[in-house]
Amino acid sequence: MSHINYDLHSHTLFSDGTLTPGELVRHALLQGVHVLALTDHDTTDGLADAQAAATGSALRLVSGVEISATWSGRTVHIVGLNIDAGNAVLQRGLARLRELRNIRAGEITARLERKGITGVAEGVKQLVAGPILSRTHFARYLVQAGAASDTGQAFKKYLSKGAPAYVSGDWAPMDQVVQWIHAAGGQAVLAHPGRYKLGSGKLKSLAREFRECGGNALEIYSGSQRPEDSWRLVRISQELELLASVGSDYHGPEQRWLQLGRLPKLPAECTPVWQEWR
Ligand code: AMP
Ligand code: MN
Ligand code: MN
Ligand code: MN
Repeated sequence: MSHINYDLHSHTLFSDGTLTPGELVRHALLQGVHVLALTDHDTTDGLADAQAAATGSALRLVSGVEISATWSGRTVHIVGLNIDAGNAVLQRGLARLRELRNIRAGEITARLERKGITGVAEGVKQLVAGPILSRTHFARYLVQAGAASDTGQAFKKYLSKGAPAYVSGDWAPMDQVVQWIHAAGGQAVLAHPGRYKLGSGKLKSLAREFRECGGNALEIYSGSQRPEDSWRLVRISQELELLASVGSDYHGPEQRWLQLGRLPKLPAECTPVWQEWR
């Protein structure tokens, strides 16, 4: 049997990516992806265009979303896969998160202006094409305004935890987010668990609590975590009987080091999140 190429985490300009849904789907096809999940941050608005672009092609598009959650005072991301985007419980939750994003954006703007950067509110608005306001948009504006040489530096200097314009979001509790995803008929995946800079004890408590509130899978391979994180994630997924997912976290061709559909094959001891998909 030939290998099916899964990539279950990606973004478009409906959140903080740079491609349209149609461009993303065409790009995925060129990269040999067979099953792609579009998982924009806190919105499902790009899914209809992506589905339309995938219809009649060799690509299967999975309806997804990446939801901002708070666990133990930290931000964690929960991906929902195979969600019904028409579900009212899910949409009410996402709408609230977008409001919180707008409030946070006001605070980030004020802090940047206190640092002497001008035109932030208008500048960022110019760069937003979809329904959510992300720190990535602020990072792009900071580059455009000459305050940073690239977005990585903009995060480091201004937007990351510990930097002067960092505002810790107070998102929805993790168990609530899992409930929204389940209400919409989807599976809940803990995104890039290696990126939260947790020691092994804390990482395990996060995974255990995620499991206890009904979470289904861990992202074992992600473009957003180091390859060496995967080994402890494989072990944790086995111990806690969580399924395994893989996703590039692709945001567009500007991330030159990252490509769609180039994820390692899951080790035999993992049960893929797609095991029971039909
Ligand atoms: P937000 O959800 O608005 O807080 O923004 C988080 C997004 O910013 C992530 O999904 C990444 O796409 C991006 N991001 C976070 N940290 C960095 C970083 N150090 N460099 C570049 N992009 C980052
Ligand atoms: Mn992002
Ligand atoms: Mn994420
Ligand atoms: Mn992502």
